[in-house]
Amino acid sequence: SAELMLRVRAAPLATRFILILADDRTEAVRVENVRRDFVANVSHELKTPIGAVSLLAEAIDAAADDPEQVRYFTDRLVTEAGRLGKLTNELINLSRLQSADSLEKAEILELRPIVEQAVDQARVAADAKRISITLAEGSGERVYADPGLLVMGFHNLVANAINYSPEGSGIGIGIRTVDGGVEVAVTDQGIGIAPEDQGRVFERFFRVDAARSRLTGGTGLGLSIVKHVVENHGGDIRLWSQPGRGSTFTVRLPLADADEVAA
Ligand code: ADP
Repeated sequence: SAELMLRVRAAPLATRFILILADDRTEAVRVENVRRDFVANVSHELKTPIGAVSLLAEAIDAAADDPEQVRYFTDRLVTEAGRLGKLTNELINLSRLQSADSLEKAEILELRPIVEQAVDQARVAADAKRISITLAEGSGERVYADPGLLVMGFHNLVANAINYSPEGSGIGIGIRTVDGGVEVAVTDQGIGIAPEDQGRVFERFFRVDAARSRLTGGTGLGLSIVKHVVENHGGDIRLWSQPGRGSTFTVRLPLADADEVAA
């Protein structure tokens, strides 16, 4: 893992070998624990909407004589079914991203139109909160990428920025060339993320405030999907945030170069 590599690089030469050996043995245990936690989390996350769906179906049945109540319960039933659908989609996306051939559909493409599509998909949600989104021009940077995956990744970031920001605030998206790559930074003026949570937001199902996230339709999978998308493309993602002031998620991707044009 990247974390191990950092630890190994930081360690004195003599202890590097031991660190790697020890990590190998604990790695299998860790992977098994992660898998078990994941299955438990999925079951738990599915239980809530499934339970709600069956309760609401009963409620509709019991209220058959009262059209207003039937309508109320039906609306809620549709919401819960939508939540189940979203959760299922995100689980499918995650498992696709974990398969080796996730870059099957990669091509060389300009990055800015990709980010623009992601913003367009979030336009209705932004307008509903009177949030303005400013997207930088870019300089025609090109990347080797699966367009669908990248749009999904950037859309998740923009959707979060909207979700966790107050009405009437602004979101800025910058695109700039950096050494050997291109960086897209999504900055909001939202609630921010406490330092102790910043390392955890990319974990599957981690939510700073689970109740609030559920209210806004969050599954806790969005950022883990973004991280997978970015890493599958050979990039990385970093987070800067200050509670009460806002957050910046910075995605760095390698620029498409002549090698890939030839490939
Ligand atoms: P969710 O579906 O809950 O939004 P994510 O994986 O996208 O799940 O994000 C995980 C958690 O990180 C969120 O529940 C929220 O607490 C926090 N978070 C993500 N993006 C932002 C942001 N732009 N500002 C503040 N908090 C955020």
